[in-house]
Amino acid sequence: MIDRQIKELLHRSKKIGLTSHIRPDGDAIGAVLGLGLALTDAGKRVEMVLRNGISKTFRHLPGAERIQSAFKTENDLYIVLDCSDLERTGGVLNGREVDIVIDHHITNKGFGKVNLIEPESVATCATLAQHMPDWGLVIDKAVASALLSGIISDSIGFRTSNTSALSLRIAADLIEKGADINQLYNRALISRPFTSVHYWGYGLAKLERENGLVWTTLSLADRHNAGYQEDDDADLTNILSSIEDMDVVVLFIEQKPDQVKVSWRARPGINVASIADSLGGGGHPAAAGVEMEGNLAQVKDLILSKTRDYLRSLKPENGSPRDSEVTEHINGK
Ligand code: 5GP
Ligand code: MN
Repeated sequence: MIDRQIKELLHRSKKIGLTSHIRPDGDAIGAVLGLGLALTDAGKRVEMVLRNGISKTFRHLPGAERIQSAFKTENDLYIVLDCSDLERTGGVLNGREVDIVIDHHITNKGFGKVNLIEPESVATCATLAQHMPDWGLVIDKAVASALLSGIISDSIGFRTSNTSALSLRIAADLIEKGADINQLYNRALISRPFTSVHYWGYGLAKLERENGLVWTTLSLADRHNAGYQEDDDADLTNILSSIEDMDVVVLFIEQKPDQVKVSWRARPGINVASIADSLGGGGHPAAAGVEMEGNLAQVKDLILSKTRDYLRSLKPENGSPRDSEVTEHINGK
């Protein structure tokens, strides 16, 4: 039913605008490129817009050079991908109505006229790979590469708890269509500039721990000192989530003197999306985020207190923090 509606909308539109969220991750970029290239092959005029452009990590993907930071013309149809609320597009739609939303975030607000939301899907790119043939779109090598890059990146290399047999079947299908898993995996997850690892160092030096709660900060000064060029966490959150016995990891990334990006990661059974959602952010149970107004110290205090409250509210069988553990601040703070 929803596939028929989407097929019909795509079919009758000549000019189609695609966008996703600010500071786009691999799934957002792969989804915009994958759908954008397939629609172009189907004879549509497509504008692909990401407010902040795309990071170097994903610039090797086919079609990356076509990404714009704003819509230049009016389109017949607007599609928002991998983005749970309108605000997170960074204002690129400028009051235009959203026709179709395609996403896998449980916190999606359903802000399109048609909403295809699959929270059990490992990535928005996986949802696209499954549905695009039903919309009459062809997945060639370039499209498959963009989609597989998104799946690899959002599942952190098929490691997240929502990785299923189906996720791997979809990935295998994309490999059969020509996507080079080895190259895409390496670019998305392994290879990184020296400055990224240097930037981690600043965060790691400030690492703190209180029972199962682990956190650190990345300030603008850290970013500057490391010479890190992007405005994200250089993947430090995912590195921290490998700490054994952790319940929740929180990273605070200063964006401006009065604006902080918060990223949570949680072990299975803990739902950090509920904390993020209550503060105007969103995400998945195991990985969520929010943009907060305030300086680094203020945001850190508020978020840690909310996170502690949430952990305390959990029943023991859901994984409350281990009370017997002593508070340990790795940096002696
Ligand atoms: P990350 O911490 O890597 O930025 O994001 C983790 C997950 O939470 C991703 O699925 C991302 O899309 C979502 N997320 C991160 N920040 C925000 C936010 O400010 N608002 C919403 N709605 N989702 C977010
Ligand atoms: Mn995603």
